[in-house]
Amino acid sequence: MKPRNRFEKAVATSNMKLSPISPKAVEWAVRNTVKHIAFRTSGHKCTCGDCGLKFDYKGKGKYIRCPYCRQKLEVTDTLTRKRKESVYFSTIERADGFHVQRVFLLTAVTRKGKKLDVWQIEVCRLWLNKDGKTAVTSRKRVLGHYMDSFNWFSDIELRNMTNVHWVISGCLVYPHYSTTRELRRNGMSGRLPDCHPTRLAEALLTDSRIETMMKAKDYKAVEYFTTHEMELDRCWQPYKIAKRRRYEPEDYGLWCDTVRLLDRCGHDIRSAKYICQKDLMAEHDRWLEKITRMEERRRLAEQMERAKRHEEDFYREKARFFGIVISDSDIEISVLDSIEAFRAEGEAMKHCVFKCEYYAKPDSIILSAHDLSGTRIETVEFSIKQGKVVQSRGICNSNTEFHDRIIKLVNDNAYRFLEAKSTA
Ligand SMILES: [Zn+2]
Repeated sequence: MKPRNRFEKAVATSNMKLSPISPKAVEWAVRNTVKHIAFRTSGHKCTCGDCGLKFDYKGKGKYIRCPYCRQKLEVTDTLTRKRKESVYFSTIERADGFHVQRVFLLTAVTRKGKKLDVWQIEVCRLWLNKDGKTAVTSRKRVLGHYMDSFNWFSDIELRNMTNVHWVISGCLVYPHYSTTRELRRNGMSGRLPDCHPTRLAEALLTDSRIETMMKAKDYKAVEYFTTHEMELDRCWQPYKIAKRRRYEPEDYGLWCDTVRLLDRCGHDIRSAKYICQKDLMAEHDRWLEKITRMEERRRLAEQMERAKRHEEDFYREKARFFGIVISDSDIEISVLDSIEAFRAEGEAMKHCVFKCEYYAKPDSIILSAHDLSGTRIETVEFSIKQGKVVQSRGICNSNTEFHDRIIKLVNDNAYRFLEAKSTA
């Protein structure tokens, strides 16, 4: 890709000037990013994966130190003789006023009885100028089964930034780094929080709130908010208030969710009483439940309002059936005779007779079947046109032991509905 503007031209020029990675950084990466193992067979015969020498280990510990090369090893019971592992790691340096994150792929091959074989290849570089503008120089990607396939023979040059570049660069950073004056001034020095280093640098240059958190060494907050900018807009004021009270949530995700719930409940999210709670999980669940109830009430009110609009029609069309009560020795079945009765029936039986506006169906008479003490059993829909029951449902739309009996009882009395209809 040809540089399209002055910024990209400067990146392309500086890209030519970087020196190879220092052996110390590679040594660090080998020590810290790849797995070091001792091959163990027959219970105690061990072979160091790093130096290839043999020793005996009968203990039960998961980790041991090689008596020859002193490397800490994970004891692995295996008969395989070869292991290959590839990991990304990165370094950060300063070049011509740019902050540069260089991403390397480190490959380690452990062969039983041989010295650990490692090599690394640079994959891409993420460039950031002092205004927070980013560009990438990279080897050419090849399209294949894996997203992160690169052509190792291509040059590291200016290319279009893709999500793959962002993903692979979210890796461990060599702790001895140097960066630009602006980033040092904004808090990037010493230990880095556990988040994407270039995303962090970008945020430090463009968002003074992240800078404040970084300078206060509040790494947990930095880690969360660099990847959740939207939350930061809502939670910045509450965050400052909580900090002043020396309150630190165990989990920023949960805390931000709670702040959001409080806001929706109409509570003051600048009040320490609400935002500095010890048992965050309990608080979160409490407000969530409140909102769920609020929403349920609001939905119900809306439905009631809709129902009221049908009320006049309902009485005009259905009042003539209201007196009908069908019963036998155990069951009584009566016509629902008001919108409120529909609401109560739907709520008690946990089905949709009210929500689906059965009161407004011109062809349907809805009846409630209950026992002689008034306990609801099933809700019945009778079709005037068909002259028979079309459905009968118990709680949560289940069928009860009385199901067939109820249907038969109503069907046997169908003539009463037809009579009532013709008298109108
Ligand atoms: Zn060794």
